[in-house]
Amino acid sequence: MEQEIKETIVKKIDKKDIDELYRDGDIKEAAIIIKNGGLVAFPTETVYGLGANALMPEAAKKIYAAKGRPSDNPLIVHISKTEDVKDIANDIPELFYTLANKFWPGPMTVVLKKKSIIPDATSGGLDTVAIRLPESNIARALIEVAGVPIAAPSANTSGRPSPTKASHVFEDMNSKIEMIIDGGEVGIGVESTIVDLTENTATLLRPGAITLEMLRDVCGNVNIDPAIEHLLSTGEAPKAPGMKYKHYAPKADMKMLRGSESAVSDYLRSQITESDIDTAILTVDEHKSVLLQLINENKKDNIKLLSLGSIKDMSSIAHNLFDVLRKCDDLGVKNIISESFDESGIGRAVMNRLKKAAGFNIIDL
Ligand code: AMP
Ligand code: MG
Repeated sequence: MEQEIKETIVKKIDKKDIDELYRDGDIKEAAIIIKNGGLVAFPTETVYGLGANALMPEAAKKIYAAKGRPSDNPLIVHISKTEDVKDIANDIPELFYTLANKFWPGPMTVVLKKKSIIPDATSGGLDTVAIRLPESNIARALIEVAGVPIAAPSANTSGRPSPTKASHVFEDMNSKIEMIIDGGEVGIGVESTIVDLTENTATLLRPGAITLEMLRDVCGNVNIDPAIEHLLSTGEAPKAPGMKYKHYAPKADMKMLRGSESAVSDYLRSQITESDIDTAILTVDEHKSVLLQLINENKKDNIKLLSLGSIKDMSSIAHNLFDVLRKCDDLGVKNIISESFDESGIGRAVMNRLKKAAGFNIIDL
């Protein structure tokens, strides 16, 4: 019988240089838990990950149980040095080294043919494996000290917004995992870019902070998996199994507005003046004061206004996105209406997460 975990231990670790982290007692404790088959959530530069020994099927299975994740949705394997790829992947193309030289350590995951050392429980039964070398010092120190590759999906309950703070992880994972390493808020806020390198041309499977434009600069041609662009119809299968699930989703019904600034503004105006339903409007700093004035003038306590960040800084919007979606849950609103953004650069990742949160429910104005 598995021993039941009563309370998850939270260990706060300040940002330190990596050599100090190698000697850190809490990192050592966490590394031992992982090596022995337990679960530890830890910060990376993208979102918090839920880590387990990637080489132990029973440990990988615990991740699926803790998250309530479908078992056909494979885990990303995290390593601490580029050369460790050779231990877990086969048929490594030259393009991999070109990309790794440019973007590792960092928020890019590559999909390669897997070696048999990676169990089916980790790869979701696929013959490929997704691999990332994170930039976060805490993440790299943990992997290095554990001495094994660490399988780590985002540390949220399956279907909920990904965690960008230790408190988000605690909300979802308390008493389900042994330890949370609290390294403060993450920097980027959206999950890694995933690139499939198992065919001649690279394919973008999930947009992230390493943008399509950056990949095309290095690789030339890069295909885009259709699951990023639209809701798949029956019979269509995304290459990243996780992209088919409703994801990042707050509890409320969410829709997105797409159209000119004036059309969006008119629509929001009519919602604020006419709707009596508890609603959260996801907007930007630049539009907030006008909308707030309208809410106050009309005494509409049922409308809550949440800013995702500044329209002039898409990285700030990526950084705040999941926290804002979780706040919508805390507010208990019934509806969420979100503005849309330009899909260039990291905007593509922001729009992909927003569209998935909204189940591709987009109102064209
Ligand atoms: P998460 O770790 O929560 O960010 O989710 C991991 C994502 O990586 C999911 O969308 C998975 O479907 C995807 N993924 C993991 N392994 C593979 C693989 N071998 N091939 C394609 N996608 C993968
Ligand atoms: Mg996830």
